[in-house]
Amino acid sequence: MSHLVHRSLRQDPPLALRGEGIFLHDQDGRAIIDGSGGAAVACLGHGHPRVIAAIKAQLDQLAYAHTALFSCASAERLAEALVGHAPGGLTHAWFCSSGSEGNEAALKLARQYFLEIGQPRRVRFIARRQSYHGNTLGALSAGGNAMRRAPYEPLLSPAFSHVSPCYAYRDRRDTESEADYVARLLAELEAEFLRVGPDTVIAFIAETVVGATLGCVIALPGYFAGVRAICDRHGALLILDEVMSGMGRCGTLHAWEAEGVVPDIQVVAKGLGGGYQPIGGILVQGRVIEALAAGSGGFLHGHTYQAHPVACAAALAVQEAIAEEHLLDNVRAMGALLERRLVERLGNHRHVGDIRGRGLFWAVEFVRDRATQQAFDPALRLHERVKQEAFARGLACYPMGGTIDGRQGDHAILAPPYIVTAAQVEAIVERFGEAVEAAIAGCG
Ligand code: PMP
Repeated sequence: MSHLVHRSLRQDPPLALRGEGIFLHDQDGRAIIDGSGGAAVACLGHGHPRVIAAIKAQLDQLAYAHTALFSCASAERLAEALVGHAPGGLTHAWFCSSGSEGNEAALKLARQYFLEIGQPRRVRFIARRQSYHGNTLGALSAGGNAMRRAPYEPLLSPAFSHVSPCYAYRDRRDTESEADYVARLLAELEAEFLRVGPDTVIAFIAETVVGATLGCVIALPGYFAGVRAICDRHGALLILDEVMSGMGRCGTLHAWEAEGVVPDIQVVAKGLGGGYQPIGGILVQGRVIEALAAGSGGFLHGHTYQAHPVACAAALAVQEAIAEEHLLDNVRAMGALLERRLVERLGNHRHVGDIRGRGLFWAVEFVRDRATQQAFDPALRLHERVKQEAFARGLACYPMGGTIDGRQGDHAILAPPYIVTAAQVEAIVERFGEAVEAAIAGCG
């Protein structure tokens, strides 16, 4: 029995001993394809020599310096690499150790911005149901994942309210065109601004592509442009959480590039450091930081390990490798292959309701009945069965239960490292297809 507290105290997970490329090797000597990079984290795969060398070199030079006293070269260089060319007007970066911390910082920075510009009445956030922004209490308050919120509901902040996500597979009515559905969602958001008082709203926060909660749900065309227009009309900020979907995962460095909008604050994490070090952060529009500079003179928020020298050195090496090895080209090419092969293998399966995603970020949603979209009974824990059957075939994928609002089906995410080859995509789809069939057969 392990002395370590695991997510499940009922089962001991396999010991991951060694990582190499897209493979993780366990204590029994098995090579398991890291088909989801954990939770869309390991974007470069494992054991990349450049990143390891950068971490070692940074440790030899400087392991730590507190940001109240010093800046450090690796953090300065990482910020320069990310926002030195001001993508979409994002000119400043702030680094922390996780996605949750990044979202907390985004929420607090947005509030401080309005204090600085003399709008203290702005005290509310609008977010979306079926979203996930992290497990700390502020980020959990922003999130709409009912399953994760439920135990802590009395502790969550009433400053957050929630509207519907753009989830066409289940929520677009048969009688409705895509444009009509988008218009209905935007009307709902507008109504929520009016209900809470538009001049009390700090920001609207959303995942650009909904990650684990719904499984790689891409918004319909026009949705984010409409959201941006509503935020602008009411003077609120737009915060996009790209912890899972950003840093190349969807085939562009930032997922918002495919949506034609730029956020005021963007949250990044997982793919930023590729798992080599714990790192997250926010990228911020110049005008937001200028307001702080002209006002109180700094960000009234911080952590002991923010802009950690080793984490920043690792992330810089990860981002340099992605650029120099032209890995976004591979994300797009292998993503197209992954989509095609998934559709060929599972598109007609009577228990596969939807296959969706972008770049190397794909989810398969399972249903009891395709016609009615009825989900499997959550008690069957189909997603767990898919995980186990995939493991048995040497594949790790990221599963999620269908209990989030008692409606959508179980799903599993595939998000292989950006270095994946065509032959490896074939192997992933083959093993995944077999695992899905075995797991569903087990549900009777
Ligand atoms: N936002 C999103 C979209 C995420 O997917 C996650 C993690 N799954 C988080 C925030 C929280 O990140 P972390 O687990 O690093 O705190």
